[in-house]
Amino acid sequence: RVAYVNGQYQPHGQATVHIEDRGFQFADGVYEVWAVFDGRLADYEGHMTRLGRSLSELRIPAPMTKEALTRVLRETIRRNRVRDGLVYLQITRGTARRDHAFPAEGTPPSVIVTAKNLNYPRSEAQAAKGVAVVTQPDIRWGRCDIKTVGLLPNVLAKQAAKERGAAEAWFVDETGLVTEGSSTNAWIVDQDGKLRTRDTQANILRGVTRAAVLDILASEGFELDERPFSVDEAKAAREAFYTSASGFVTPAISIDGAKIGDGKPGPVATRLRARYIEAARRDAI
Ligand code: PMP
Repeated sequence: RVAYVNGQYQPHGQATVHIEDRGFQFADGVYEVWAVFDGRLADYEGHMTRLGRSLSELRIPAPMTKEALTRVLRETIRRNRVRDGLVYLQITRGTARRDHAFPAEGTPPSVIVTAKNLNYPRSEAQAAKGVAVVTQPDIRWGRCDIKTVGLLPNVLAKQAAKERGAAEAWFVDETGLVTEGSSTNAWIVDQDGKLRTRDTQANILRGVTRAAVLDILASEGFELDERPFSVDEAKAAREAFYTSASGFVTPAISIDGAKIGDGKPGPVATRLRARYIEAARRDAI
């Protein structure tokens, strides 16, 4: 495997950034993850647009043009012989003597890219079986709309899920409403058969997969109610699932040990997963 690091392709095992990289010291950086289908980037524009927004919200200068960045993503995919997998991009505010305030203007941002194949049969098997979800208090900051590498609450939540035999943790705010997953957006099919997911004005990440699934809903004749839901509503829902670039649409079959519906992946989640993968593969560039 090889990784792109600041203009060079290095053997993955030896690829390093400087100890004074601000990503390392302050989590002062952003990232994106694209799914790769047939060696091509899925939801290309959605992730690019969000990346641009994350950078500008943090006032990190764009390290290169979109075209140059796209070439790096594609070259990293090619050099790693990725067919179906993921490409990871991280951009930090660069390397400078440690000081909380921004470094001198002109400090180049650090850019790293890695790519790997995904085990699709395993992902499909997991989706066919459905996964367990546990809830965790949402202890994150007020700018969860920015895709920063400051992921400690997400790390702790995912670890708590893992220790309870669950695949994902759903964050819950002080009022008992689900905000989003530790690395996914959360959805239910409520008792009226409507799709529910929190609106993206409310301090969550604007999931690119979430947006792609929203586009599919109408054509499938599913009704949307873009409103947050409580943990109790999730437990009483017909179905639950979550979306992300790495997991597509993943059906959840229990929350905190309480069975959802009949405890099997539901028809809506199963249908949306198939439609999403089909469309994302078709439109990948
Ligand atoms: N919420 C959070 C907190 C995430 O980290 C992710 C994955 N990056 C998502 C939602 C899903 O976003 P996307 O569909 O763009 O991968």
